Amino acid sequence: MSETNLESFDVDSLETNVEWGASEGRKKSRIVARQLRRRSPLQRTARWGIALLFLAALTQEAVSVYYERQMTSAAQSITGRTDVDVRCGRLWDLVTDFRGSTKPGFVYWDSTTANLQLPQCINAAGWADDPLDDDNRIGIMVLTHEVAHISGHRNEATTECVSMWAAPQTAVAFGRSAAEGQATAQWYATSYNTRMPAEYRSPGCLSGPRPTSQMLR
Ligand SMILES: [Zn+2]
Repeated sequence: MSETNLESFDVDSLETNVEWGASEGRKKSRIVARQLRRRSPLQRTARWGIALLFLAALTQEAVSVYYERQMTSAAQSITGRTDVDVRCGRLWDLVTDFRGSTKPGFVYWDSTTANLQLPQCINAAGWADDPLDDDNRIGIMVLTHEVAHISGHRNEATTECVSMWAAPQTAVAFGRSAAEGQATAQWYATSYNTRMPAEYRSPGCLSGPRPTSQMLR
């Protein structure tokens, strides 16, 4: 019925009379290519967001590893053990570790790793500098507390007491004097431990007998 078929289709009839030079042809194909490459603002934002997150993660990793070395060295010095190490937290611990991520420090029982929030690691490391402030002192005591757990103490009040007694050892591990460690423990006993939840409080610890602990040398 229809007269139209492929044989009768005249390709030449579609041609225009406009003649494109070779350079103009290239220019037009470049424009088309650019259009194809163009991304939506959302795609561009996502790309930048991913790049920045990646950069932030790398930076955080480097900072954490830097402090972990110092904390691990101190923890090994306090315990006299080389199998002990310290991990300084990452932001994504909030997502991957609900149990410990909200505490300043924690350990898993039977583990040899003390976990500290990154700010606690930074504060503890600040102990190597003058002058000391309360954040430095708390950081040091958090580190010593978690290390005391690793050395076998599970009761929180006992762990607090052992770490107050061990503070001079921690001081020496950070290049301070044992007397400064003692002063830190005294401050901690009267200004901080008394404000902690009941199970952590250890009143009279420093005036009482020295606790039995393999950590105290
Ligand atoms: Zn504890």
